[in-house]
Amino acid sequence: MKFNTKTIHGGLENVDPAFGAVMPPIYQTSTYAQSKPGGHKGYEYSRTGNPTRGALEKAVASIENGAYGMAFGSGLAATDAILKLLRSGDEVLTSNNLYGGTYRLFTKVFEDFGLKFNFMDMEDAASLSAKITPNTKLIFIETPTNPMMNIIDIEAVAKIAKEQHILLAVDNTFASPYLQNPLDLGADIVMHSATKYLGGHSDVVMGVLAVKDEELAHKLYFIQNASGAIAGPQDSFLVLRGIKTLHLRMQRHCENGRAVAEFLKAHTKIDKVYWPGFEDHPNHEIAKKQMRDYGGMLSFTTKDDTLNGALSIVEKLKVFTLAESLGGVESLAGHPASMTHASVPKEEREKLGIKDSLIRLSVGVEDIEDLLADLQQAIG
Ligand SMILES: *Cc1c(COP(=O)(O)O)cnc(C)c1O
Repeated sequence: MKFNTKTIHGGLENVDPAFGAVMPPIYQTSTYAQSKPGGHKGYEYSRTGNPTRGALEKAVASIENGAYGMAFGSGLAATDAILKLLRSGDEVLTSNNLYGGTYRLFTKVFEDFGLKFNFMDMEDAASLSAKITPNTKLIFIETPTNPMMNIIDIEAVAKIAKEQHILLAVDNTFASPYLQNPLDLGADIVMHSATKYLGGHSDVVMGVLAVKDEELAHKLYFIQNASGAIAGPQDSFLVLRGIKTLHLRMQRHCENGRAVAEFLKAHTKIDKVYWPGFEDHPNHEIAKKQMRDYGGMLSFTTKDDTLNGALSIVEKLKVFTLAESLGGVESLAGHPASMTHASVPKEEREKLGIKDSLIRLSVGVEDIEDLLADLQQAIG
């Protein structure tokens, strides 16, 4: 099956043996009747397994070209499950340009349990080997990165990870499986905040994982059941529904993203536009190699380069909503320095390129004329 067909049919065979419903029913139940002790139809208790969640997990595995999927209560709960594969004393190599909540989970929760996190510039994959120690058990990356849209070469990192028998997990939230499939590039685990493009309608918080390896899958299912941060049946249904239009939405996100990036690049009041589709983006060649298109996420700075200038733009936007999050059908604008990255000291922020005038856009699927007119009136 090709990708677009998989978004609609992947993993969804015989979802309702009782009545033949085309969509998996929402099994809003905690438990399942047994004919005798142990005599059940594959489900005993909904933390361990639920048919609606199971249908979503199969669909996620299918669109990421994995064999096993797991759905959690949030993206961070999915990342939390990955970290629980490790033991006290193990080391994690990760990027210094991570989603803020992931950074917080690593440094404020798991460091206290004896895990060690080494943050580095992962764009230079060749320098990775020097940072690996005998205790390195996991490499965790995110590409494109938030909000600077840097690109990490998944295949190059995977090659080093394989040679050294280290697990590689990739947060694929920004790209979505429509643009990039980390498992095909050699990653062991792909993670998504399904809150974003997979759900796609800003109406659910959820996280998912997909893997190819059976033994790794069983360890993750064990953690999912033992720790219990599962996705509920209603939310599983919503994300299943979202996935069915992922390819249609992503196609428009990419078209609109490109048009907005080009509009901003040509605008006299705009300084830099960070979007991996531009040939002068520092990692454009890697993006071209590992992604099918460049998506709807981009950031830009203004020429006046002031905090107030940027705030005035985001406050004037009318079609773009000023909000955190991304990946929904509606266009959103964010100001990283005062919103998502406010907790990072100004000096540290600027080292990462997050200037006070940086604005991040999640370009939605509205008519492009309305999006450009809105940006024009706000930028002036
Ligand atoms: C939102 C997000 C997360 C966290 O997901 P939640 O569903 O909010 O827990 C992780 N990584 C990236 C890249 C995100 O955008």
